[in-house]
Amino acid sequence: MELTFLGAAQEVTGSSYLLESDNAKLLIDFGMFQGKEEDWNYQPLDIKAKEVNALLLTHAHLDHSGRIPVLVKNGFRGPIFATPPTIELTKLLWEDTVKLMKEEKERLDRKRRRQDKPPVELLFDEDDINEASKLFVPLPWNQTERFKEFQFTFRPSGHILGASSIEVNAENIKLVFSGDLGPQDTVLEPPPYIFEYADYVVIESTYGDRQHKDIRETRAEFKNALSAAIRDRSKVLIPTFVVDRAQRIIYELYLLLTQEMPELATMPMFFDSPLGNKITAVYSSYPEYLLPHLAEFFQGMDQEKLGIQYIDTPEQSKKLNNLDHALIMAGSGMCTGGRILHHLKHGLWNPKNHLIFVGYQAAGTLGRSIVDGARNVKIMGEDIAVRAQIHTINGFSSHADAKDLLSWAKNFQPDTTFLITHGEPRPAKSLAVSLGNMGYHSVIPARRQSVTLRPRKERIAIPPPEAYTIGQKIDNFVAKYPHKRKLVERVLTALLESLEDSEA
Ligand SMILES: [Zn+2]
Ligand SMILES: [Zn+2]
Repeated sequence: MELTFLGAAQEVTGSSYLLESDNAKLLIDFGMFQGKEEDWNYQPLDIKAKEVNALLLTHAHLDHSGRIPVLVKNGFRGPIFATPPTIELTKLLWEDTVKLMKEEKERLDRKRRRQDKPPVELLFDEDDINEASKLFVPLPWNQTERFKEFQFTFRPSGHILGASSIEVNAENIKLVFSGDLGPQDTVLEPPPYIFEYADYVVIESTYGDRQHKDIRETRAEFKNALSAAIRDRSKVLIPTFVVDRAQRIIYELYLLLTQEMPELATMPMFFDSPLGNKITAVYSSYPEYLLPHLAEFFQGMDQEKLGIQYIDTPEQSKKLNNLDHALIMAGSGMCTGGRILHHLKHGLWNPKNHLIFVGYQAAGTLGRSIVDGARNVKIMGEDIAVRAQIHTINGFSSHADAKDLLSWAKNFQPDTTFLITHGEPRPAKSLAVSLGNMGYHSVIPARRQSVTLRPRKERIAIPPPEAYTIGQKIDNFVAKYPHKRKLVERVLTALLESLEDSEA
């Protein structure tokens, strides 16, 4: 059996692995490349979509699900197995992606018309997501399904609603794909499932070199910022990712209100995100995918007690600009777009207001420049002074940190081989070193590397990425720097010609 790493190899985004037996091809995830690798989404696919027989989807996040419509556009028609909440969340995120891509296209096309250039092509559209949605086959946790010679089971991974690790059995080999793992002490979802046996484990390494802040410290920081805003009767703005982080913040607010901060009831609270509201509704519909007390919370009563108002229309959203004292959560999480921009424009200048970051801020985003201390920023074409009090609270993460990854990994038997993915080179290496200290063999595969999997008895060592054929190295280089393709071709052709001449 062969396993090929199509993405999330020495990088975080673009998760996708191809598992090939003699008779079938199975994909695990088909995610989007994001951030600096975004252009890769538009490259021709590394696989023939029509030849793929089925797809297993670990969870809804776009870096795992975002290119499935592209696969379908290219002819994939096999079943897509996923847990029921993953199916619902994925559809919502696809719809939102098409909406955002269309807005971006409109903006770019206006510019391109003036430059006499053809309009940009959408990565996928409504038709593609409708087609893709028809292929979903719901597979709840802990039920084993069979497809051709593959047998697979989805298990809780503790990351977001419905998120799974997947075990796959075929040809006497057992593989576990970790998917994205949550912390060991999860707050909303059941903790990651403990596996004991696998021949190979594909493990994520997002935070392979980092420890999250302690939850008590995180909660104290959050509480202090809110107390100050209540005392000053000022505004609290929380840019938030709309899947899981927003629902987590809603729950954290509820804990504060009911346990230590009854005065929170005096502050009007708003969740200003139509998409976020739909996603919260999905959380309410799948109690069996949440911890029991959370299921109760999301299903009703307690949420009402919290008194958060859910904002839908742009008109309702604009009305919030006139409020001096309120808590407003809105997307996007890194302030790269969405309704949070309006709220920042109207609130960032005021030294009494508070801006609380509850998630990762990538380099190059507005969120990051504020975290890094910018005194003035440009928001929707207007110069805005940054005078509000800025808080960065990082302990509400839905990702395992280095300690969590190791305590999940340590349950596997000593002769398990780990294939480390979904992490930048530094955290991936750091996880490899820690696994090595625990006595495990591990490899950090490169993008497009194929690994031959064998049953334990016939196992041979996997060659490190350096042992690549020269052809693969050239392919990888050109994929990374497409604008240098011509140059590479010219140089190589000249080199080969001169080598041939010297032979003649
Ligand atoms: Zn994820
Ligand atoms: Zn991910």
